[in-house]
Amino acid sequence: MTLCLLLIGAPGSGKGTQASIISKKKKLVKLSTGDLIRDEVKNGTELGSRLGPLIGTGNLVDDETMLGLVKTFFKGEDMESGIVSDGFPRNLNQAMDFNQFFPLNAKTIEIKVIYLKIRVQDLVGRIVNRRICIECNEIFNVSDSYTIGLKECVQCGGELILRDDDNEAIVRKRHSIFEGTINRMLAFYGDNVTIIDATLNRNEVTRLILEELDK
Ligand SMILES: [Zn+2]
Repeated sequence: MTLCLLLIGAPGSGKGTQASIISKKKKLVKLSTGDLIRDEVKNGTELGSRLGPLIGTGNLVDDETMLGLVKTFFKGEDMESGIVSDGFPRNLNQAMDFNQFFPLNAKTIEIKVIYLKIRVQDLVGRIVNRRICIECNEIFNVSDSYTIGLKECVQCGGELILRDDDNEAIVRKRHSIFEGTINRMLAFYGDNVTIIDATLNRNEVTRLILEELDK
């Protein structure tokens, strides 16, 4: 049985952090479209030069480009061990296309969708404390007691920066886009969806996700 765990939630709901934790604990391949896009930009590819200007504006990468990135990613990965996806698919169109990789009704695939639910006012407070490692893309919340004032990545020593797209206006814009797409996605995945309160502390969210995987 190949596990396909999809973590969905508004930007800032903590799905990136949870995807990293769960991928390590469960030895799952992590799919992060945000990382794929940032890597394109960092590597100065043609695609990266097109996508770069979108970062920091709150504008989303179009579905076709996103699906192209995901397909390329999967060509290079062995999916047998299972995957955990951070924020992809993002809308019904992407979900239906992704269904070609992980069909909902396949006997050898187990799809679990975790929706990390959070209100926009809680998101704004959280996002200004988020930092990302420029080397390994690990995400930290510098208001957590154990990472307060952290300047370097505890994994690789890389510099931690505030992402360009982590500001209030952009958070609100991305959240409203997300709100417009989530219900159709939830309907598509139906009984495969579990909702978890994303305002719980990080360890508690991890525990609830693991509990769901053991069911
Ligand atoms: Zn790092």
